Amino acid sequence: MNELKCRFCQSSNISLIIDFGNVALAGAFLQPGQFPDEIKYPQQLYFCKDCFLLQIINKVDPSVLFKDYFYFSSAIKTLRDHFAVFAQEVTKRFLTPGQSAVLEIGCNDGVMLRAFAKLDLKTVIGIDPSTNVISTIKEPNIITINDFFTEKAANEIKNKYGAMNMIVANNVFAHIDDIQDVTRGIDLLLAKDGVFIFEVHYIGSLINELQYDMIYHEHLYYYSLLALEKYFSGFGMEIFDIKPIPIHAGSMRYYVRKKGELKQVPLSNDVIELKRQEIGAGYDREAAYLNYAHRVEKTKIALIKLLDQIRDVENKSVVGYGASGRANTLIQYCQINNTQLKYIIDDAPAKQGFYTPGSHFPIKAREVLETESPDYVLVFAWSFINEIINKNMKYLMGGGKMIIPLPAVKVVSYEDGKIKEELYS
Ligand code: SAM
Repeated sequence: MNELKCRFCQSSNISLIIDFGNVALAGAFLQPGQFPDEIKYPQQLYFCKDCFLLQIINKVDPSVLFKDYFYFSSAIKTLRDHFAVFAQEVTKRFLTPGQSAVLEIGCNDGVMLRAFAKLDLKTVIGIDPSTNVISTIKEPNIITINDFFTEKAANEIKNKYGAMNMIVANNVFAHIDDIQDVTRGIDLLLAKDGVFIFEVHYIGSLINELQYDMIYHEHLYYYSLLALEKYFSGFGMEIFDIKPIPIHAGSMRYYVRKKGELKQVPLSNDVIELKRQEIGAGYDREAAYLNYAHRVEKTKIALIKLLDQIRDVENKSVVGYGASGRANTLIQYCQINNTQLKYIIDDAPAKQGFYTPGSHFPIKAREVLETESPDYVLVFAWSFINEIINKNMKYLMGGGKMIIPLPAVKVVSYEDGKIKEELYS
């Protein structure tokens, strides 16, 4: 076997933080006829002691992950609203009406491109390999390219449309296997005084809120500012501003420029402050991540203990809520089986009738909560817990209970006219 190396800096000075074992791809929902051919891939989280990158070390062919994709950003109102405001904000700050060109990497179904297209820019381009998703963009003033963004693609785009004043890449910069090639492409295609902006899940949320369910093959990197600073400096680029974003239970927006360019914008104090906080939290040291792994293991033990108690002592039933990629990591890591959980409810009709990867739980519509009245609902979509409680008050008022698996295991019930939360450890 080849020696494992850091994906960013190729160092062998890396240490294993969590071994998830062999797991099925978190987004690969399937039908029973596909069970025998389902492939499981090793999933190991490593930390690089040289460049500070927390990463999944194992490789999965990107075309397996992205050619046919289950996720349409525009289906989520929060995202439509967020990207509309984001596009307006950055256009006002960095672009010139009628003159500027913008490219979005991982544009998906055009959730942000549509907002840019309304802002009187000269050129609006999106690139995404998922054919079924990008083909839904039909607006005549948006140029779409159905491909992976690479240095080669960047060259072709530059020859055809010129340099870009802004490149954006949201929730994709952590997803790319050959990230060096993509970064070279960004450097090549970005105008001298251009800005590269990307949003990505923030490592502080992953660590502080024990969001280990975010860890799956699609998300290869878990970025700290410390790791990103080091990485971009290798390309003659620097992060000059940041913005914390509540989306996806805790993201960060990073603003990047070529070193020494875009001089009119000063280095933000927020960058200096976040760096200080990250050094204080030890994000440049292995110990912080080993401590994290220990806390993750503890919540796993608490959750399994509770599920076993419900099955063996209370003799009651549990179903899941929210068949997301996050659910699939949690189920596979905790090895939840069909003696502990019956099925999973999901509001997205596209998933209903399918089965979860690796664990093969059937996915059903929410109506079963009323027809079958399960005793407990394990809320995999725990980051939307308030919305889920509000939507399902009838179930709770009828005596049903909810289990919140993270950041700490809790049981939610409705007693004496109010919502009660009980902690399990
Ligand atoms: N930007 C959208 C958002 O923030 O909601 C979509 C994010 S989705 C999680 C990731 C998208 O990136 C998918 O549509 C996927 O097909 C695309 N993608 C993956 N690798 C890519 C690459 N190398 N170049 C361009 N797009 C890529």
